[in-house]
Amino acid sequence: MRRSVVVTAVGALVTAAALGPAAAADPPHGHQLRNEPVKTPVARGYGGGVATVDLDATRAGIEVLRRGGNAVDAAVAAAATLGVTEPFSAGLGGGGFFVYYDAKSGRVHSIDGRETAPASATDKLFVDPETGKPLSFQDARVSGLSVGVPGTPATWDRALDRWGTWSLRQALAPATKVASRGFVVDDTFRSQIQENADVFDDFTSTRKLYLPGGAPPAVGSVFRNRDLAHTYRMLSREGMKPLYDGELGAEIARTVQHPPVTADADRVVRPGAMTTDDLAAYDAPLRAPTKVDYRGMDVFGMGPPSSGGSTVGEALNIIEATNPDRQDKVGVLHTYLEAAALAFADRNRYVGDSEEVNVPLPQLLSQGFADERACEIRPDAVLKKPVAPGVPDGDYGGSAACGTKAAVAPADQHEGLSTTHLTASDRWGNVVSYTLTIEQTGGSGMVVPGRGFLLNNELTDFNFEPTQGEAPDPNLPGPGKRPRSSMSPTIVLEDGHPVLALGSPGGATIITTVLQTLVNRYELGMSLPDAVAAPRASSRNTALEAEPAFLASAEGKALVAEGHAFRSVPEIGAETALQFGERGAVEAVAEPTRRGGGSAMVVLPTGGRGHGHVPAPR
Ligand code: GLU
Repeated sequence: MRRSVVVTAVGALVTAAALGPAAAADPPHGHQLRNEPVKTPVARGYGGGVATVDLDATRAGIEVLRRGGNAVDAAVAAAATLGVTEPFSAGLGGGGFFVYYDAKSGRVHSIDGRETAPASATDKLFVDPETGKPLSFQDARVSGLSVGVPGTPATWDRALDRWGTWSLRQALAPATKVASRGFVVDDTFRSQIQENADVFDDFTSTRKLYLPGGAPPAVGSVFRNRDLAHTYRMLSREGMKPLYDGELGAEIARTVQHPPVTADADRVVRPGAMTTDDLAAYDAPLRAPTKVDYRGMDVFGMGPPSSGGSTVGEALNIIEATNPDRQDKVGVLHTYLEAAALAFADRNRYVGDSEEVNVPLPQLLSQGFADERACEIRPDAVLKKPVAPGVPDGDYGGSAACGTKAAVAPADQHEGLSTTHLTASDRWGNVVSYTLTIEQTGGSGMVVPGRGFLLNNELTDFNFEPTQGEAPDPNLPGPGKRPRSSMSPTIVLEDGHPVLALGSPGGATIITTVLQTLVNRYELGMSLPDAVAAPRASSRNTALEAEPAFLASAEGKALVAEGHAFRSVPEIGAETALQFGERGAVEAVAEPTRRGGGSAMVVLPTGGRGHGHVPAPR
């Protein structure tokens, strides 16, 4: 993430004075570093909060709240700003999932803004017709084949239309300003371009925008994206019609069908088949969120085509079935890892786009199924991986069903490392948990010429070939189908009131990051900042990974001694979260260090004004 100002000590609070309108309006950011609010990962107070990976995006959201907008308005403003400052993770060319708690009705809603395959797609989308073999991931990614019809613009439109109080023009204004006035390039922004330089250099439009003069912009320089500012202005005037049914849509389809490859490109870039009809047919529908009862609370998440809600939910049910209160810390972490592996086996076997395949969602979320799965877990032994999927058929035989099934080793699945999550709340008690992405860092690598945004490669989230042995694979490509996601925007209610909202980037590790944070908070009793910062481990049935700090901890060592064979990885996830106390108290939390650290703010910070402390719920 971009880091344009000095990061203060963990836990430092942003003061109300530092958020003053004068500071927020002064362009460009590089010229006013001394007056800028600082980026801090924890803020407490009242009036609503915003947490994102990026200072500018959080500021945009907070400014909306301060001017009377609600959490939905703030979330869209922050997301649009991420499209400028975090363009390699999110933007107009991508998709995502928006989960919303509406204080007035007390209901949780979700919007499915997932990218969609063109009507012409088949299950052989990523099979090379010449060899009959699947394409390599990179050949598939850097092509028109991987680009799904973007869902992010429709998500913003639907969210504002349905629950917002601001117009699209108002919500896009802060991002438009950042795009046209510029922001200061930091290490992460530059290094994400550097990592992608060979790809970006092969497209005329991307080379022009992100490799000006043949190299990534220097750290400390001011980066402007005037094309994106123009695009946002056009959408502000005309709504999303030009994108789904107009000139911008025609340009997107042209880019996919005729990738703007440079004359000296050193790769073959396969064209895709997306048409303007595919764009016109796009919808970001409201879907019923997933819900499980966990420790007397209701945990809401995203249903298919995301596997986030069902996999986090199933794993929580499994953990609950193992009597975690009687386990020590190592025991709880062992249970967490095994529950995640079991739930991943089930998601791989059963979860895909439920418009296209039959997903047994109520069974996957049922306590009966979880009880049957939980009986596989042994306190004194590590399950042999990969574990087989269970049978969510409503007929649960308890321990008689344990250990009776043969495992199918699924093919290796690609794990992305891009994406971003933001959380926002307002003074009325509304809450947004929103994860958005363009899939890989840098997406397909193709900027729509003259428009200033990258197109996604989300369709590579489909399996390229069947992965489930004799059983059907729910996640093969198909016409108009949405690829399965791991994004897990989550909201937890207790007695009907929100207590926590969270989410993370990180491909399939998103699921385990959200799950581990819930375990840290509710099983191990950590504060929310500690739960977010704690070293992570991730079991996904095929992959078992841990951060170095986890491996170095006493619990990590004990788990290794038990037989958990972790692969060490530098970082897992980068969360943002909100926690709610009584009388409107809010604690906003962003990742303190991973991926450069995030930014948390509240409208009325506690401290110096006698507001007292946010009570730590539970
Ligand atoms: N495309 C991934 C998904 O939808 C997210 C990508 C990532 O986080 O790297 O699950």
